[in-house]
Amino acid sequence: MVARLSRFDAVIIGSGMGGAMAARPLIDSGLRVLMLERGSTVARTPDCWAPDSVLERSPHYSVESAFRVHGDDPGTSGSYHCVGGPAVFYGAVSMRMREVDFSAPLDVRGDAPGRWPFTYADIEPYYLWAERILGVAGRESGDPTAPWRSGPYPQRAPDLLGPARLVWDSSERLGLTPFHLPLAIDFTGKGARAACVRCGTCDGHACALGSKSDPGTSVLPDLVARGLTLVSDTVAVRLLYRNHRVTGVECVDRGSGFRWIARGHHYILSAGALASPQLILASGLAQANPAGDSVGRTLMRHSNALVFGLFPGVLEGSRSFHKQVGIHDLYGGEHDRPKLGCIQSIHPPPVGMVQDRVPSWAAGLGDVIADHSTGLLVIAEDEPCRDNRVTLSRKHSDRFGVPQGVVHHSYTQRDMDARRSLARVAGRILRGAGAVFTTCYRIKTFSHAVGTVRMGEDARTSPLDGFGRFRGIDNLRVVDGSFMPRAGAVNPSLTIAANALRCASHLAGRASLTGPRDARQDMWTELRIPMHVHGENGREVSR
Ligand SMILES: Cc1cc2nc3c(=O)[nH]c(=O)nc-3n(C[C@H](O)[C@H](O)[C@H](O)COP(=O)(O)OP(=O)(O)OC[C@H]3O[C@@H](n4cnc5c(N)ncnc54)[C@H](O)[C@@H]3O)c2cc1C
Repeated sequence: MVARLSRFDAVIIGSGMGGAMAARPLIDSGLRVLMLERGSTVARTPDCWAPDSVLERSPHYSVESAFRVHGDDPGTSGSYHCVGGPAVFYGAVSMRMREVDFSAPLDVRGDAPGRWPFTYADIEPYYLWAERILGVAGRESGDPTAPWRSGPYPQRAPDLLGPARLVWDSSERLGLTPFHLPLAIDFTGKGARAACVRCGTCDGHACALGSKSDPGTSVLPDLVARGLTLVSDTVAVRLLYRNHRVTGVECVDRGSGFRWIARGHHYILSAGALASPQLILASGLAQANPAGDSVGRTLMRHSNALVFGLFPGVLEGSRSFHKQVGIHDLYGGEHDRPKLGCIQSIHPPPVGMVQDRVPSWAAGLGDVIADHSTGLLVIAEDEPCRDNRVTLSRKHSDRFGVPQGVVHHSYTQRDMDARRSLARVAGRILRGAGAVFTTCYRIKTFSHAVGTVRMGEDARTSPLDGFGRFRGIDNLRVVDGSFMPRAGAVNPSLTIAANALRCASHLAGRASLTGPRDARQDMWTELRIPMHVHGENGREVSR
């Protein structure tokens, strides 16, 4: 059976931070937009907070099309596939990159130092817009490296709770300058969403109440109500192209296996920094780009680690919100100061993750650790290197016929040194706060992956131009984290959100989106049911 969806001005692949934000200016301009997402909607029930729903234990963490990883962390890597993408499980820290991050690289160069094709001033209005959409709670003063801003935060960051206060006081005693982290969390409950209850689950769990702002709670429901057609459980397997234009996206319904073609005038790829280059390479599109050899290269993921401190007594407020404090005294990069990065307070290891790593008789250890510890996350900027990259397997494909993605990634000596320097300071902060024991875990996941389809002015080395247009193909843009020429040293999601708003506003501002109809190409999207189309309020309905 074949259903026909409307004629689309734009087709977006991926409903994560980049894809969801890109839809906003297009819908605001009255355009018809189809969004394809391989995952399903995360039901917001109390189960979201269960130990079994955290990080890789979540049913929305998928190894269905896992990447094979070579280098420092060999093995396989899955991804969060759901409406809203991995940001549904993120920690909601919403940092703007510092002005220094946009200037010429100093000491973090690697063998492929990227340059931003725009300045902080160019993206600043879009940072403000992204903060408003996400309702970020912050404070205008206190952060010693904060870039200038043209408007206030939509909410004031709340006062410190429990363990965050210990971290703050210890940092001050060491002569550091702690500040309130900007957080995309609704602390007021004044709008349609429930107010945050200050539980300790933000980083790693979907929010059961929807108080944490992610694309699934704060962006997509409104867009769907205003006309966005969101088709979930649908994998984009190939972009079809002819005469320097994408002509359609071949899709597979995950449940039924039906194949169909989604068509529009413009295409926005936002499948994430690992899956977007995989899809470009699998579709043969790199050959059309003068910088095609750079597609998949310069993968960056931050050189980051978690430092945990164990305290002798139960910490007051141990099960409440820990992720409130930022420390940027070692950020660096200005004048001759080495570029290091940031330190942020974070929750103890989630109970479910501890249970996975200890024998069953020691399962209670997770609760002991949760009550007696707190942590610090360190994020160092990593160097862009050409051999850190995504390629395709010649031998293996997933069940949809897409060649398996292969990730090659190794840190440079400088990446490791920067991380160690930050981790040493983090350990001192925790010991100063009263921890009797500290331990450091390097983060081995690709949760901060960026840089694989870079933006830049040089058409020989940057597959994207300054507005995210894929060179060599007239109607394709890439807006997820893969656009970033350098990783900076703050969490990436707000920069991805702001750039997606910027690129899509540029697209929406073009004089005519709906060009002449190509007689050879049926601009109507043929859809074989069953399918999962989201109706009002983002609810899934089968039609
Ligand atoms: C546990 C965790 C905590 C984090 N905490 C923070 C934080 O506090 N602050 C911060 O700034 N960042 C944080 N991050 C990182 C942040 O979530 C990511 O940087 C951001 O979500 C990446 O956005 P993106 O647009 O690049 O792609 P993604 O959000 O990865 O979106 C890609 C989307 O495309 C879909 N997709 C992929 N392939 C296909 C296909 N073939 N067909 C259809 N759909 C497809 C995916 O299912 C996904 O929904 C965290 C990440 C994790 C995992």
